[in-house]
Amino acid sequence: MQFNVAQLLKEPTGATRRYELNEQLVGLDDELRFLGPLVGTLQLLRTNSGILVTGELSTVVQATCNRCLEPIAVPVRFRLEESFRPLTEVFTGRYIRPEEFEGAEADLEDAALLIDERHILNISEVVRQAIWLALPMYPGCNWEGPGICPNLSNRLTELEELGGVDLYTDRETPHTGEEIDPRWSALRKLYGEQDSASS
Ligand SMILES: [Zn+2]
Repeated sequence: MQFNVAQLLKEPTGATRRYELNEQLVGLDDELRFLGPLVGTLQLLRTNSGILVTGELSTVVQATCNRCLEPIAVPVRFRLEESFRPLTEVFTGRYIRPEEFEGAEADLEDAALLIDERHILNISEVVRQAIWLALPMYPGCNWEGPGICPNLSNRLTELEELGGVDLYTDRETPHTGEEIDPRWSALRKLYGEQDSASS
């Protein structure tokens, strides 16, 4: 998500570029798993202090349903509007002093909003932050009916079949028979025998 803006920086205020994005986001964030590319339209506008980037973007992120704990695909839409400032003066290569900057002070201090010495504008960090902000706090599957989510009841049945694994365990993989404490398996055997005896 890098744009060479050397030419745009040489143009007068008001000059624009438009890009149709279709970008794979692999490696953007260790904690986000993307199920689709980043798509949308991005506009770069030359301003007196640098380049204003605006866009309507969207992607799809994998999340875990807050109710049934199943993986779900969450569509994420967000609007980008960020002012980037050049580190160097495009015609001379001279570093621009902070006091020469004409934009907002907050923009001056954000390293994610710098256009580097090679005139590369990189939107990766602002996109990463925008995706986190756009993600729902409690993602849920599409179950909206009353009572328990069918995914959850299926999941509970599965777990039950695996030997009644504690649903609230933080283990990533369910217990297998071999992992069960021998004292418990002896107990389970006992219960099993009682069941067959009583029927
Ligand atoms: Zn669910």
